[in-house]
Amino acid sequence: MGEKRTAKPASAGAAEVLLFIVAVLSALGGLMSLTQATLGVGAIAFACFVAILARIAQAGNQHQALSRRIAALETQQAATGAAVGAAPPARIPTDSEIKCSVCGTIASRGPSSCPTCGAKY
Ligand SMILES: [Zn+2]
Repeated sequence: MGEKRTAKPASAGAAEVLLFIVAVLSALGGLMSLTQATLGVGAIAFACFVAILARIAQAGNQHQALSRRIAALETQQAATGAAVGAAPPARIPTDSEIKCSVCGTIASRGPSSCPTCGAKY
């Protein structure tokens, strides 16, 4: 609460930037040291590196989309003053009414069966 949320992409921290640079330099170093014998393994490893970067970017996008939905729900909740997913207030039958135990319909006590589902009272 009281935490400011933004829809803009979160900027990476210094540690993340440093680790990303180290990862790219390591990948480049590995590419430079490939030989004919290690070319296949190197290609697989580089594919894994690229896939990891793609997954990180995807996770960032998913996180932002989720944050936007939560912010929209909070805005909606603040506007209506209602809890998200709250059930409507239950109506209590008066003395001249009866609540069907099968479907929950509230009807007058006159008929001996529910007007909605036909259950006998
Ligand atoms: Zn009923």
